[in-house]
Amino acid sequence: MNYPVLKLKRGKDESLRRFHPWVFSGALTHMPADLEEGSVVRVVDSDGNTMGVGHFQIGSIAVRMLDFADTEINAAFYASRLAQAWRLREALGLRRADNTAFRLVHGEGDFLPGLVVDIYDTTAVVQAHSPGMHFARQAIADELMRLPGAGISAVYYKSETTLPYKARLDPQNDYIAGTPGDSVAVENGLKFNIDWLRGQKTGFFVDQRDNRSLLQHYSRGRRVLNMFCYTGGFSVYAMRGGAELVHSVDSSAKAVSLTEANVELNFPGDSRHEAFATDAFKFLDAMERDAYDLIVLDPPAFAKHRSALRNALRGYQRLNAAAFSRIASGGILFTFSCSQAVTKEQFRLAVFSAAAQTGRRVRILHQLTQPADHPVNIYHPEGEYLKGLILYVE
Ligand code: SAH
Repeated sequence: MNYPVLKLKRGKDESLRRFHPWVFSGALTHMPADLEEGSVVRVVDSDGNTMGVGHFQIGSIAVRMLDFADTEINAAFYASRLAQAWRLREALGLRRADNTAFRLVHGEGDFLPGLVVDIYDTTAVVQAHSPGMHFARQAIADELMRLPGAGISAVYYKSETTLPYKARLDPQNDYIAGTPGDSVAVENGLKFNIDWLRGQKTGFFVDQRDNRSLLQHYSRGRRVLNMFCYTGGFSVYAMRGGAELVHSVDSSAKAVSLTEANVELNFPGDSRHEAFATDAFKFLDAMERDAYDLIVLDPPAFAKHRSALRNALRGYQRLNAAAFSRIASGGILFTFSCSQAVTKEQFRLAVFSAAAQTGRRVRILHQLTQPADHPVNIYHPEGEYLKGLILYVE
């Protein structure tokens, strides 16, 4: 295709030959000064052979590969990738009468780097993480509306906080196709009011679906503390699982009211639940020993970048130590990290250090990750970001 050409330095084509979807700026011979951010480019090796096409971006990741062939990037390309993504969700059985919230597109994991699409009932919430996807947003929205069987009747575009601000794209959060339907989505038979207009990310964390089911399984008769509750996902599952009481904590008053509303939606008038708008560390420090026998720690990403790694690991250790030192004997701890920069091993080491610091006897019952609608492209291991452990504490 007649796209601007970016040439790789000699020997810098190895990772592309292994289908890794990122080209770092240091791998390129030169950067044409007039190349516009978000353009589709053709990447060639040092001999001029085509390696594929991708979206160009200013920064350390210079190109996010869309295909490893000389493919035209047009509406038909997006239609075919979206259809592929939908076929996988169909195979996973994620759209059912009792489940209407799921991720349809998970960036590199669905061969669409820089794009996230979450579905809530009939509304698709689209997030662009790259200028290229920002420019393609209307084509993507139109194809989403046409996707056979997916049942999408509105597309809300929400990229004000996900695009590099230096690109000066001035993205506006707005509906870009159709008219919105129900804002209540169902996850495994539980109802959640999703506020994609004002909520964090696309309005809900669909990535904890499977882990919430596991929590339900362990909740019977337990006193549950759900730290960093956001919309109260874990809390509602704990209630369905027969918890004796459920306490939800989030520093955001808005999150606490979302949690209360979702509990009320599923268990009206149920007095087992109480929510607190306060800082998690303060709450844990003030908490009595043995007050809870199931604790969930699902904090926001402590390390947004690699540079913040050391502090993040210290943060995870401190948080987990606070939980270990107070959880009742025979208690169960669900502990997570969603920082992409933190590896499984590093997270496990932070939790190990926390356990050692408190001297509790701790065993790993389950090792958790993201669900199947957040697939990891095998050539892009960076796509694996959610890590969790379920621990039994004597
Ligand atoms: N567990 C949630 C997702 C958590 S997102 C779910 O399953 O949907 C992280 C949440 O942590 C956000 O709601 C944010 O408001 C909250 N948060 C961030 N810093 C906090 C702090 N220091 N104390 C308590 N909550 C905090």
